[in-house]
Parts: sequence; C-alpha cells; structure tokens
Amino acid sequence: MTIFADKVAIVTGGGSGIGRALALELVGRGARVILADLNRARVEDAAAQADSKPGTADPVLLDVTDWVAVRKLVDDTYTRYGRLDYIFNNAGIGVGGEARDYTIEDWKNVLDVNLYGVIHGIQAAYPLMVKQGFGHIVNTGSIEGLIPFPATISYAASKHAVVGLSTTLRLEAVDLGVKVSVVCPGLIRTNIFTDSRVINLNRQKMLDNMSKLKGMSPENCAKAILKGVEKNKAVIMVTVGARFLWWLHRLSPAVVRAIMTYFLRRNRRECRIEDPQPIND
Ligand code: NAD
Repeated sequence: MTIFADKVAIVTGGGSGIGRALALELVGRGARVILADLNRARVEDAAAQADSKPGTADPVLLDVTDWVAVRKLVDDTYTRYGRLDYIFNNAGIGVGGEARDYTIEDWKNVLDVNLYGVIHGIQAAYPLMVKQGFGHIVNTGSIEGLIPFPATISYAASKHAVVGLSTTLRLEAVDLGVKVSVVCPGLIRTNIFTDSRVINLNRQKMLDNMSKLKGMSPENCAKAILKGVEKNKAVIMVTVGARFLWWLHRLSPAVVRAIMTYFLRRNRRECRIEDPQPIND
C-alpha cells in the first residue's frame, strides 16, 4: 500500500523530464494526477503513457506564469475531487550564459517561470490546503539554489529564491496542517539542456562536456523525490553529486567557490563564443 493511492496531485511541467517521471510514478502508485504543461504534445503523450497504470492522468495545457490560469486549474481540481493532496510546482527553464551577456529578458523569463510559477502554485493551493487542514506543497529547486553556480545566474537566483520561500513557508504551514518540501536535484538527464536558451556559448561543446558527467535518469529522480515526500523532508536532495556539493559548501564555502571558479574558467576557454545569438533564436 502506498500513501499516494487515491490522492489528488497537480504536477506542473508534467510533459517532460522530472515532472513527467514524477507524474507517471504517482499514477503507478494509484494517484489521480493532473499533468499540467505548456507543451500540448508532450503532456498528452505523457498522459497516454499512464493509461495502463492504476491511477489516472489528466493532461492540461497550462502556462505557470499565468496567475489566473494557475488559480483556475487549482480551483477546478478542488471542485472536481473535493480535495487537493499535493501540488508539485516543478515547471522550469534555464538560461546558460554569463551576466555580462544577459538581456533583461534573460532575467525576467527565468524568474517568471521558475519563481513566479512556484509562487502562483503556492498562492492558489496553500489557502485551500489550509482550509482543508492537510496537503503537501513540493517545489522544485536545485543544487543551484544552495550554492553559487556561475554561468546560469538567473537560474541560480530563481532557485535560491525557491529554496528560501519553501523553507520559510514550511515553518508557517506546519501548525496549519500543511507540509512544504523543496527538491534540490543535481544533474538529471532531461530536455532542459537542449531546450534552454544559451548565450554566447557553444551548446554542443557544453553538452559534450556534460555528457562526461553521469547524471541520473528522471525515473530514478522521481522515485527519490517521492521517498523524500513520504518522509516529509524539508529539503529533498537528489544525486550523490548534489548531496556532496551541499555538504562541502557547509563545511568549506571557499573550496566550493574554488571548484566553481575552476569550471567557470574552463567553460570560458572551451565553450564561450563572442557573437551572441539573437534573442529567441
Ligand atoms: P524539462 O525541460 O525536461 O521539463 C520541464 C517542463 O516544464 C517541460 O515540459 C516544459 O514544457 C515545461 N514548462 C516550461 N515552461 C513552462 C511554463 N511556463 N508553464 C508550464 N510548463 C512549462 O526539464 P527538467 O529537467 O525535467 O526540469 C524540471 C524541474 O527540475 C525544473 O524546475 C528544473 O529547474 C529542475 N531541475 C532540473 C535539473 C536537471 O539536471 N535536469 C536539476 C535541478 C533542477
């Protein structure tokens, strides 16, 4: 018997990578899952994969940057099922590149999806959960929300904010019956690295360098996340690398700064190109 059987869960970014794997794992454990994503083809395909599993999966088109749409989805889900057990605020995007090459959109787009997307999910679901007296909000942060991570600065900023708001909300929510966790994965093999915009960087070279690092499958990441959710962990670390870096950063921030500086300089040598790509290429 799993704690997720018959529970109602919304998963944003459910069309790909971690969100898709999470949704399918939840459906496999008997949950009723609303799979929400910006990409219609991906979310419908993910829901179709869930057909033979014990739970149910409803694909929904959603842009998490649209507050009205997020509130409507949460309200509709509550009206339909009479409860909301979980919201996984997971949709996210990245921008690779250095701050000196950024446009203002490179900040806004990432903060809109990664931070405001999470805030919208909380703002819509948390009051309902407080009213019903139970519920678990699970926000996707990153190891980049716990340590400095050059050359993805707006992403790191958004994830630091997600970690901070999650650990703070957890304290406010506990006496009201609502649980809050933040997931901090290291490298997971998903589409985010091919889909994200890169500025002034040779994407292929970057991907080649990354392919030398092992990374975890989204399916194993989803299992690790649900294990942390079951244990109601405040911070759910995923991958050995992320766990190690976080531990090292608490032990000696200077060593982590030196490691990150080493990789930044190598990245500049091997991947940097001087002609910026046009915006929205
Ligand atoms: P992914 O690209 O495979 O999936 C992200 C999904 O989010 C996509 O289906 C995309 O369509 C959707 N999405 C993007 N913008 C959206 C929006 N405005 N509204 C609704 N959906 C939207 O990436 P992933 O790696 O599975 O990322 C999931 C989460 O995990 C993100 O928050 C990401 O920052 C985080 N994360 C990923 C890694 C990694 O190594 N892959 C590591 C740490 C954290």
